[in-house]
Amino acid sequence: MEEIQTQKFDAVVIGAGPAGVAAAVTIARGGAKVLLVERSQIAGTKNMIGGAVFLDAFKQIFPSNWQQAPFERYINKHTWSLLTDDSAVELSCDFPNNPKSASIYRSKFDNWLVEAAKQEGVYFAPSTLVKRLIKINGRYCAIETELERIEANIIILADGVNSLLARKYGLRYDYEPKDIVLSVKETIKLSRETIEERFNIKKDTNNGVSINFLGGLKLEKAPFALGFLYTYTDCISIGLGVNLEDLNKYQLNPSDLLNRLKEHPVLEPLIENGELIEYSAHLIPEGGYKKLPKLYDNGVMLVGDAAGFVNGIHFEGTNFAFISGKLAGETALLALKIKDYSKKTLKLYRKKLNNSFILKDLKSYQDVMDNLYSRKNSLMEYYPKKASEFFSIFTGANCIAKRDEFRKFLVDFVKDRNLRELLKDIWAFISSVFGVLK
Ligand SMILES: Cc1cc2nc3c(=O)[nH]c(=O)nc-3n(C[C@H](O)[C@H](O)[C@H](O)COP(=O)(O)OP(=O)(O)OC[C@H]3O[C@@H](n4cnc5c(N)ncnc54)[C@H](O)[C@@H]3O)c2cc1C
Repeated sequence: MEEIQTQKFDAVVIGAGPAGVAAAVTIARGGAKVLLVERSQIAGTKNMIGGAVFLDAFKQIFPSNWQQAPFERYINKHTWSLLTDDSAVELSCDFPNNPKSASIYRSKFDNWLVEAAKQEGVYFAPSTLVKRLIKINGRYCAIETELERIEANIIILADGVNSLLARKYGLRYDYEPKDIVLSVKETIKLSRETIEERFNIKKDTNNGVSINFLGGLKLEKAPFALGFLYTYTDCISIGLGVNLEDLNKYQLNPSDLLNRLKEHPVLEPLIENGELIEYSAHLIPEGGYKKLPKLYDNGVMLVGDAAGFVNGIHFEGTNFAFISGKLAGETALLALKIKDYSKKTLKLYRKKLNNSFILKDLKSYQDVMDNLYSRKNSLMEYYPKKASEFFSIFTGANCIAKRDEFRKFLVDFVKDRNLRELLKDIWAFISSVFGVLK
């Protein structure tokens, strides 16, 4: 058996996604010796996004070189699409001069993050799976891989949604199926010109679009599922996320759901003649504020997806990952300065999170997903259908007096919608809006 070697660092960060890199680079900039450990040989190859990285948070981590990152397209146009079986009602906004996010391939983007972090003094250990955390006298103070023990005053868990380590050491409970979304995605190759033509993108620009879908799965009992589509330079990604509870309850196959979405008459022409080049699946933690883990303990902090920092309503994850990593990094630097790695000092991390958008947003959105989930039949079926009927009249010019058509629409609306159900929809909507604003 090979002898286990021991090395020592000020801090070790486990996982080289956005959260881990942000934590490591923050610590290195403060002059401390930090090791970033990643199980993949090339960072990002095991990771997945829909998806677009949010630029404001990214700029905070790499303010001087963010533009050199391998972005595919700057997402300036966002569309929300309510689908019925054969129609779509859409709402769009377009910020051609002020994109908020950019589409990326994780394998290229995460690798860029790691290389940029290495240039700032972060030590990087690829192909290294962390198997255990070592706790001595009540404080986490080392990690163990297959070959080595690495000692550190501070350990940061940035190992993503599964965070086997946090679960193993009781820092986080297992999520319930209703708090986890399984996301499946296909990357489909189309020529650059075809993408620009089909998505009405100005020629030879790096502009791009994202579309989110609700409904349109042609199922009697629709699960709570959100679909997405993003444009890349010469590919598009199309996918959907489904709550695990619904997948079990209705015995659904996520690939079948994605096929249903792809066959929708409004979507099918967008991906026609494309070549499937990748299929991937990944989990998303959506337990939110109610399911927060232990965010810190003696010698350890949790960041990004490992801590469950995602706002599923807005498809936000990378911004939470970058900024939580930064805040944990700042806390680590203070702990190293005063040489106190106990939770007495690390509670500063929680304080910083409380004062940031991260816990403010998770707290104010804590009931929104539950509210939407409880009204999923209305959202996935009833309102898309009614919106489609309304616009069919609005745009129909079918030689019937508009007054008669709109009256009939209203009468049918009141008749079809049982009052109790309508009140429940209104209540879910109002309590969600008040929850976010209060
Ligand atoms: C389908 C999908 C679409 C999404 N779309 C968007 C979007 O459009 N915009 C957005 O902002 N967010 C999106 N997200 C969420 C976003 O991808 C995550 O929130 C973000 O990647 C979290 O970053 P992280 O660094 O915490 O974790 P990750 O990116 O998951 O990184 C964790 C890293 O830890 C490594 N690791 C795990 N265990 C170990 C171990 N034991 N030892 C060593 N290394 C280990 C992994 O290999 C991985 O590199 C999406 C997610 C999915 C699944």
